[in-house]
Amino acid sequence: MTATVTVPYPDLAASLRGEVITPDEPGYDAARAVYNGMIDRRPAAVARCRDVADVLACVRFGRAHGVDLAVRGGGHNAAGLGVWDDALVIDLSLLRSTTVDPVHRTVRVDGGCTWGDVDHATVAFGMATPSGFLASTGVGGLTLGGGVGYLTRRFGLTVDNLLGADVVLADGTFVTASESSHPDLFWALRGGGGNFGVVTSFTFRCHDIGDAGTIIGGPVLYDLADTAEVMRWYRELLPSLPEELNGWLGLITIPPAPPFPEQLWGRKACAIVWCYTGPHERADEVLEPIRTFGSPWVVGLHAMPFDVLQGAFDALYPAGLQWYWRADVFHEISDAAIDVHRRFGELLPTGHSTMHLYPIDGAASRVPADATAFPYRGGGWAGVIVGVDPDPANAAAITQWTRDYWSALHPTSAGGAYVNFLMDEGPERVRASYRGNHDRLARIKRRYDPDNTFHVNQNIRPATEET
Ligand SMILES: Cc1cc2nc3c(=O)[nH]c(=O)nc-3n(C[C@H](O)[C@H](O)[C@H](O)COP(=O)(O)OP(=O)(O)OC[C@H]3O[C@@H](n4cnc5c(N)ncnc54)[C@H](O)[C@@H]3O)c2cc1C
Repeated sequence: MTATVTVPYPDLAASLRGEVITPDEPGYDAARAVYNGMIDRRPAAVARCRDVADVLACVRFGRAHGVDLAVRGGGHNAAGLGVWDDALVIDLSLLRSTTVDPVHRTVRVDGGCTWGDVDHATVAFGMATPSGFLASTGVGGLTLGGGVGYLTRRFGLTVDNLLGADVVLADGTFVTASESSHPDLFWALRGGGGNFGVVTSFTFRCHDIGDAGTIIGGPVLYDLADTAEVMRWYRELLPSLPEELNGWLGLITIPPAPPFPEQLWGRKACAIVWCYTGPHERADEVLEPIRTFGSPWVVGLHAMPFDVLQGAFDALYPAGLQWYWRADVFHEISDAAIDVHRRFGELLPTGHSTMHLYPIDGAASRVPADATAFPYRGGGWAGVIVGVDPDPANAAAITQWTRDYWSALHPTSAGGAYVNFLMDEGPERVRASYRGNHDRLARIKRRYDPDNTFHVNQNIRPATEET
């Protein structure tokens, strides 16, 4: 690590269209803050880039002065990997432009966009590209790790819809990666995280959804006491459903706010949030098994623009809360797992804390495990347990509940996690999460970033020799 006093940040500032914010300047605390309020890192400087030339200048400057580089897209990463102590943060959050091509059905997206930016742009044309379950998450990190969301069953992961990416490489050069240009890099970008360069723009394939962008979705809420029954039904039903219908399952506390009925505020519940993106004339038939199962407290299925569903939880989870995550991938929801969920659901430590199971099946499961760097194909769920609370005084309690829950559940898992849900869990966990794709990623890392310039991420170390 280079002592910050020796690094000529004023020279960098003079060469950028954007600004460079150092610790002595007003705005430094806002510039270093990320979504997870538990993260309190102090970078040497935050460069708020305005264009690709700024990004090129930052990478070249970092290399020339031996400074650690961190890259911030949406700043949403739970482990806070968009910011690093004593590093130069390449902050892309001002790069927010989107361009829809309705003829070729694509959208080109700047590297600092959130999914809210993209949905806003595409839903206006009745289209969407697969993303996640929240509007405030960054396109950069979510895409580079894989991208699991409402459209996964129907159109695959976000990476399965990536057509190309503009990338600033570790040596300070710029390339476009696609199936026909730097195909090895393109393979690695589709799941390999921020290991291979700074992506300044992504181009995605778009799809018509719902009725001109209006889908039918929302939560169905059951008493937490019904969790075992609901989970057993859900695990059998989901794979048999048309791929136009997706639903993630969560154990939650019902938020004390409309539109939830007041008598349910603060009650613990088993929830499934559904999203049907097919033709509306088939909706009644497709949704019939959901409307008729069990004794739900609330069936909150409504027609709404896709971007409204995507943004539905953003107000409940504003930036700055304390978050502690643990995750795994599950090929099945076993009876043993259901037992653990039931137990720990009753112990949800705070109103915001939750457990989610996100399906990775349908179109996503038909892509071979080695076709992209994302290795979890063939069906299953990405699971995440998150302890969340606004009050830092509760950090220890939410962390302990998450760890205990994860330890009890982990034996029922596939043995690794979706990398975008990992905390700082060490190289062995990263290797386990990439499964059979890890060594190929390490070889591509050696080709594009042999000095591990981009290491503030779920790091893949460069292979030591070309094989
Ligand atoms: C509340 C919440 C909800 C989430 N929901 C989902 C979901 O529904 N589906 C899902 O798949 N994931 C989800 N995630 C996980 C999410 O995908 C990761 O946290 C992801 O890292 C966020 O990306 P970001 O750009 O916002 O993060 P950042 O913190 O900015 O960056 C995360 C990592 O990606 C790298 N990176 C970011 N942008 C670029 C870029 N342009 N070029 C190169 N490297 C880059 C960073 O260097 C860093 O290593 C969620 C996370 C949170 C906190």
